[in-house]
Amino acid sequence: MFNLVIFGPPGAGKGTQSEKIIEKYQLAHISTGDMFRMHIQNDTELGTRVKQILADGLLVPDSITIDMLEEEVTRNKDVRGFIFDGFPRTVNQAEALDAFLEGKGCKVDLVLQLDVDQQVIKERIAERKKISGRADDDESKLVKRIDEYFEKTIHVLPYYQEQGKVVKINGVGDIQAIFGMISEAIDAAI
Ligand code: AMP
Repeated sequence: MFNLVIFGPPGAGKGTQSEKIIEKYQLAHISTGDMFRMHIQNDTELGTRVKQILADGLLVPDSITIDMLEEEVTRNKDVRGFIFDGFPRTVNQAEALDAFLEGKGCKVDLVLQLDVDQQVIKERIAERKKISGRADDDESKLVKRIDEYFEKTIHVLPYYQEQGKVVKINGVGDIQAIFGMISEAIDAAI
């Protein structure tokens, strides 16, 4: 199994690059954001619980997120590995993921940090809003999401740096060129 975490602020290009990684390396994609949106769209009980939290641009409580993620990993049997997109977003989630994978005899092998400055993030999300229709792409909600990132999520980086797993990739520029750098990092770790 090869397990990869793709890490970066909202609008860093995690979703875009994840699609390319999946195609090339045949990993199962786990995006907790997509999963929450699916629950909301399907009006599930979980969807009802998290709807307002997503609309406000806040993080869903760890217990809910971790349970949902573990269920999804367990459901995907016989895969070559996973790409975790948008998870972990707190140190608590990162620790839970390590313990969970250890129980399955595997680990997080690589953390790709997409490095993008805040001005670029804002411009990209304004563009994405035109097609995504995501309420949380509104400027007021985006500010909250960026705050959450710098208050809670950024601490996940040193957690993985201490384990020597982080490769930093410049996330600004041509999508294909960025993917080239990502491929090099994966090939070196796989
Ligand atoms: P994303 O599509 O990854 O930007 O996620 C959209 C929203 O889903 C976030 O703003 C959070 O409200 C929620 N969410 C996604 N992943 C997580 C996570 N790992 N922990 C807590 N909340 C999450």
